[in-house]
Amino acid sequence: MGKRLEGKTIVITGASSGIGRSTAAEFARTSPNNLRLILTARRIDTLKQIAADITKEVGDGVKVLPFQLDVSKPEEVSSFVEKLPEEWRDIDILVNNAGLVKGVARAPDIAAEDINVQFATNVTGLINMTQAVLPIFKSRDEGGKGDIINIGSIAGREPYAGGSIYCATKAAVRSFTDALRKELIATRIRVIEIDPGQVETEFSVVRFYGDRSKADAVYAGCEPLTPDDIAEIIVFAAGRRENVVIADTLVFPSHQA
Ligand code: NDP
Repeated sequence: MGKRLEGKTIVITGASSGIGRSTAAEFARTSPNNLRLILTARRIDTLKQIAADITKEVGDGVKVLPFQLDVSKPEEVSSFVEKLPEEWRDIDILVNNAGLVKGVARAPDIAAEDINVQFATNVTGLINMTQAVLPIFKSRDEGGKGDIINIGSIAGREPYAGGSIYCATKAAVRSFTDALRKELIATRIRVIEIDPGQVETEFSVVRFYGDRSKADAVYAGCEPLTPDDIAEIIVFAAGRRENVVIADTLVFPSHQA
């Protein structure tokens, strides 16, 4: 699998934490000889530390570029590719992972700001990132080539009370991903969706506005997945022979079945 990833340039959004961070490390471990990783998120200092950790672990066969990018800001996303150093622009794989959930509230009580930030990040951010890299993919080979890997959620399939906005954003990701895959049929541009169930990350800390005790309570009495569990599946999907599309995958811990 590592051989198939060799020479690739990979962009990961939301690489400063959780699933994104683990995915960066997993790509590096799987293909340590010739890889470029563009790690994006808002926390640039954290990204720099992660880049240093990856280099320490696998050596300099993996080149890592930390890049500050807020996917909820369309102007940052639209200028993203042109701001990359030239040798980093030939992107092969985009992992659209950046996302968040804000608050647990019944629909009438949801703050407008919380609605907007979830759609701007989880939906518009993901669409804008896709639009930013598609011209690169389409210009490659006949009909195009590249991987778009979107991180949805079980919440996009099974909405829950108190999470209407987050669930709606992930359902939107699902529709967008399915339609895009159909638009790109018969090209070598693979459109992949991976929908995690419960994974223990900073996700819940963000959901409860930094309240760690409430976040920890989410995982009490159950065994959630780890970010590495999802990272392994993302890298596995990207490492398949190019005619193989792992289009749609739901992954959850056994207690959540
Ligand atoms: P984390 O909170 O650990 O990581 C989220 C990442 O997204 C961080 O790196 C954060 O970086 C980044 N991010 C948030 N907002 C923005 C923004 N505006 N621009 C750029 N980056 C942003 O959560 P997870 O790793 O758990 O979540 C990753 C994905 O997995 C999300 O899409 C989430 O919806 C999905 N998911 C998670 C599940 C779970 O149980 N944890 C279950 C199902 C799906 P920074 O703050 O530095 O910008």
